[in-house]
Formats: sequence, structure tokens, C-alpha cells
Amino acid sequence: MFNPPLPAAAAGAVMASFTSRPGLYLHVPFCETLCPFCPYNKVLLDRALAGRYVEALGREIDGYLAHAAGPFTSLYIGGGTPTLCLAELAPLLARIPVAGERAIEVLPGHATPENVARLRAMGVNYLSLGVQSFDAAVLAHLKRPNTVAENFRALEATAGQFDCVDVDLIFDAAFGEASVFLRDLEHCFRAGVEQVSTYPLMRFGYTPFGKVRHQPGREHRVLRQAEALARRHGYERRSVWTFNRRDAANYTSITREFYLGCGAGAGSFTGGLFFLNHFSVPAYIERIADGELPIARLASLSRLKSAAYYLFWQAYTGRVDPRRFGVLYPRQRLLRGLLGLLRGAGILRREAGALVLTPRGYDRYHDLERWITYHFIEPLWADMMREHAHLRLPPRGLRERFWLHLAGMGGGAPAPGRNP
Ligand code: SF4
Repeated sequence: MFNPPLPAAAAGAVMASFTSRPGLYLHVPFCETLCPFCPYNKVLLDRALAGRYVEALGREIDGYLAHAAGPFTSLYIGGGTPTLCLAELAPLLARIPVAGERAIEVLPGHATPENVARLRAMGVNYLSLGVQSFDAAVLAHLKRPNTVAENFRALEATAGQFDCVDVDLIFDAAFGEASVFLRDLEHCFRAGVEQVSTYPLMRFGYTPFGKVRHQPGREHRVLRQAEALARRHGYERRSVWTFNRRDAANYTSITREFYLGCGAGAGSFTGGLFFLNHFSVPAYIERIADGELPIARLASLSRLKSAAYYLFWQAYTGRVDPRRFGVLYPRQRLLRGLLGLLRGAGILRREAGALVLTPRGYDRYHDLERWITYHFIEPLWADMMREHAHLRLPPRGLRERFWLHLAGMGGGAPAPGRNP
């Protein structure tokens, strides 16, 4: 029943497979320039293609909405650069029922007063600025489309205008000094934003940046320095990589319990299923035009696998609620035993009924996340990126086949892509 290609009518079965009400993720895969470190699914902006894409996105969402039992718990619009398509997205967002926050990723150069007003009118109340750095040399190294001046202007234009403003910063351990990154962090704290998300740069082999050996010890040290700096400014560490003003909400893209992803390259986790949409924009549009769901890869998850996936991403927030876990996943003795072992090993500790990561636990989680990224996420995305024929990626190697098979996502050949 769940082997792609799936007819559009299977949307009802997909919605019925959610363990609990999902959040909604929308992917907008267009950018004006392509940053060489970026592993995400994106293509250069083509206005005509973008118009057809948003139409297809609307049809995909409507197919699921027809079977939704209630509003989505949250909405997250990511990319790519979603702010390139605000006019096209506005009518779409107006018909999506959402109970919680409505979040969007914003390129700093697009955070103009006009766009801020437009986003507010669209009901957006959480916003993430892709600043990455306030240092001209770091921005040049990353070949970012945004300038230092635009980054500062974006902070000014958005501060206090939304329930939560998050700033993304990258630390590339293979380039430059930690002091530059810490100074970037301090700019954000002084501006009083609700959250700062700091990412040690992950290097995916299929990007122009290619691979560089990580320096885990250095990354841990820098994150600990960042945590000390955050405390001095009245911020606290709320997840492996994020720091929040003590009174502020969390901005998060990846820790929804269950989520439906719509758009090219979007992923979904229903509890029983994990699936990925086609990465190629034309292939995505064609599937929908042909009356199919645009799903390219799908894995049916055992309860144990599903519970492990759930626990891993919940732990990203630094906190797991064992009661909630027990309600969603009763009788998972193996994983409960593992949580007990991690407590005994000083990785987790109890706090107000929850299990929270200790400082050592944050370091170990960071290492585990890096391992999972390079062993599961990178091979899967690399495989899906082959849909972009213009990237001319080599065929799957043995190592990639092995990890794809282990993840249950090895089936199917990539759809031929015709992206520019
Ligand atoms: S980092 Fe952002 S702007 Fe740069 S290519 Fe990736 S999605 Fe586009």
C-alpha cells in the first residue's frame, strides 16, 4: 500500500498514520545565489518555475488538508529562500489552519520594513534570520548573499516585531578564529533577540565545500565558551546548539514530535512512516500534475525504530519527557532501559519530571548527531540530489548503499531531474 509511486488518494491513509497531530513544514527550494557550503535542496530562482511550483505545493497541501482531523500544531516555512516567494505564498498560507506558531526563514537582505509588515499580515509570528556571521571575511568565505550592513539592518527591522526572532550563526572550525564567532554571538545577545542558533559547519561531500575532518574537541570547547557568554548576557542553553533569552520561546525547525513535509525535498515523520518527497522541482510538479503524491522514498517504521527516531530528535532540545514518551510509545522497555543507562552514565539527569542532558551529555549528543548526519542523512540526501541532473553526482558507492539499506530508504532510482 505504501510503495511509491502513490496515488493522490493515498493522502487519507498518510494522514491516518499520524500518531498524534502533526506540524506542517513547507519547503521553498529557490535561491538567488547558491552558497557552496549549503547541503539543502535548492535551485537557482526561475520565476516561471517558482509560480508553477507554488501552485503544485497548494495542490499537495489541499490533498492532505481534505483528510486533516484538525489544525496543524505549527507551520514552518523553510528553504531555499522562502522570502523570494512571499506574494505567491500569501494566499496559500491563508487557507492552512494552524493552532501554534507560524515560522519562516528570512534572508537578512529581505528583512525590509515592507517585508516585515507583509509577514506580520500573513500571520507569521516566528522568524529566523540567516545571518551566519557579522564578519565580512566569514561571509566572503561562505559566499553568502547577505552583507554585514544588511545583517545589522535585519536585526533592527525585526527586533520586537515577532513573538520570536532567531538568528542563525555558523562556526566553521576549519576557517578563522573562535573569537570572531563569539563576537558574532555577542552582537545577537546585545540586540536582545529571543534565540541564537549556532551551527558548527557540517560538510556534505556533494557540496562544493566538500569534506574536511571535524575537530570535535574544538567544537565542544567553543560551544562551552558560547554557553558561558550566553549566561553573562541573561541567555540559557536550550538545545545542543541554541541559546535563548530566559523569558523567550523556542524557535525550532526539527523537534516537532510528528510532521508533514510538503514541497520538493520535504520529509515527513508520521510515527509509522518516514518519507521524502522528490528533490527535483520539475519531477515534484510532474508527480502532482499526474495525480500522484510526490513521495520518492518511504520507509515503514517498526514501533522500536519510530520510538528511537522520536527520542533522538526530542533529545536535541536537551530534554525528554518520559511520561509523554510512555503515552506515545508504551511498552518500549529497551529504550526505557537505555534512558536509565544514560542516567547512570551521567549523560542525562532528572529535573522536574523530565530527563535533561548534562554538560557531558550535550557533548556526547553533539557527537552522536554528527555521526547520524554523516551516516544516514548525508547518504540519503546525496542520493536524492542525483535527481538534479546538472549536479552530475557520481553513482551510489558501496558505503552509501549500505547506509541507505540500513535506513530502509534504499529503494527506487532517483527521478531524472531537469532543473536549470
Ligand atoms: S544557505 Fe540559504 S541562501 Fe544559501 S544556498 Fe542554502 S538555502 Fe540558499
